Amino acid sequence: MSMNATQASAFAKEALALISSQFYAGDTPYACGLPMVPVVKTEPGSVPNGNLTPTDDEEGLGMVVSEGLLAIADNVAIKFALAHELGHGISEHVLSKVGLTGASGEATEVIADLNAAYLLNQLGIGWDTVIASISEWRTSQIFDTHKEGDHPPGDHRVKYVKQLRALIVRKVAFNDAARQICQALPDAGTSP
Ligand SMILES: [Zn+2]
Repeated sequence: MSMNATQASAFAKEALALISSQFYAGDTPYACGLPMVPVVKTEPGSVPNGNLTPTDDEEGLGMVVSEGLLAIADNVAIKFALAHELGHGISEHVLSKVGLTGASGEATEVIADLNAAYLLNQLGIGWDTVIASISEWRTSQIFDTHKEGDHPPGDHRVKYVKQLRALIVRKVAFNDAARQICQALPDAGTSP
């Protein structure tokens, strides 16, 4: 498979609609002082990568991704990576929603992963498919072997999503599950 920028934008639109209803009571999420918009641009580069970036008219916060990200053979992995990047715009807000206001370090990345996995599941992708897909991160290169900034090593990132699945299938609400997982991170602070 793989995607083009139009398909990636269409996915971002679906994901942002869910983010809005789930965490913003239907309002548009803002990040960096701009409304988040489903605009995905590509830039050259074979290594899968993405960042939030203002749109050309600077009236919204869209996304720029490497051509290598959209070229990944597994569309579920592409969607996870796109949802993770969108998650960066809302991680502070979501951490406060789950009761971890001001959390720093790995929690800011793990919450983006948990949110991405949950979004994909809400969009109809089964948990087994999500986990099988991200488990192939060595092939897709969506994760790194070692800790990168606040991103935990790839194997740990898969482990946290598996923990989320286990809690959700036991009917634990997303917010409670995400709080439990983030509080148990090795670098979790002791702030309230
Ligand atoms: Zn990240």
